[in-house]
Amino acid sequence: MEGLEAAWGEMSADPEMAELDLGPKEREAFFADATALVRRYFEMENPDEVTAVGIELSLEASMGPVRLRGIIDRLDLDKDGELVVTDYKTGRSPAPSHEQARMDGVHFYAYLCEQMLGKAPARVRLLYLRDGVEITAEISPQSLKGLRQRTLAVWSAIERACATEDFRPRTSPLCNWCSFKAYCPAFGGSLPAADPIRAEPAEPGPFGPTLSWDQARWAMAPGGP
Ligand code: SF4
Repeated sequence: MEGLEAAWGEMSADPEMAELDLGPKEREAFFADATALVRRYFEMENPDEVTAVGIELSLEASMGPVRLRGIIDRLDLDKDGELVVTDYKTGRSPAPSHEQARMDGVHFYAYLCEQMLGKAPARVRLLYLRDGVEITAEISPQSLKGLRQRTLAVWSAIERACATEDFRPRTSPLCNWCSFKAYCPAFGGSLPAADPIRAEPAEPGPFGPTLSWDQARWAMAPGGP
């Protein structure tokens, strides 16, 4: 807990923390929540038994025309010398029927490791600190091949949608947090008249089209494009 208190002290001076504009009670609740998550972590594993070879690793690699980026919370070496990706989650663990959908996304981590480190991890672990659940996916050449096929198919669908400007709404419980719900045709809304002056497309970056980890995870989820 000393580490948490030190981190809390550092965060308190962080401009992003100040932007949250938390009152005393909210700060107290924030710290209590962080404390509960850290305590749960220590119940889930003994860090003295972990051989971490990297934390907050920023990885980036190409897949066909797409550039993928991701940040891996922790990369470990297991007792057999295999790489293991560990990702911390602060939300609730998914119901068993949704577990596989969550694991679809984490195969990106394995792909990024393989491309940048020359070796795919043997496993990817998701540690759900809220309820102490661990979900593990074994990585295989077949799972990486499937990821590649699905990602390229999704990218083609995105390119088609951009070319035809055909973006159909797909409703889900997340609509309740959507800032565009008032304009969404699925909820009886309509788009304001288009501005006749269109912005010029931005200059392409040095790597061409880039799909961030969050965009890719969204795209791979059921109900994505
Ligand atoms: S635009 Fe927003 S409200 Fe409409 S379907 Fe998509 S997420 Fe839901």
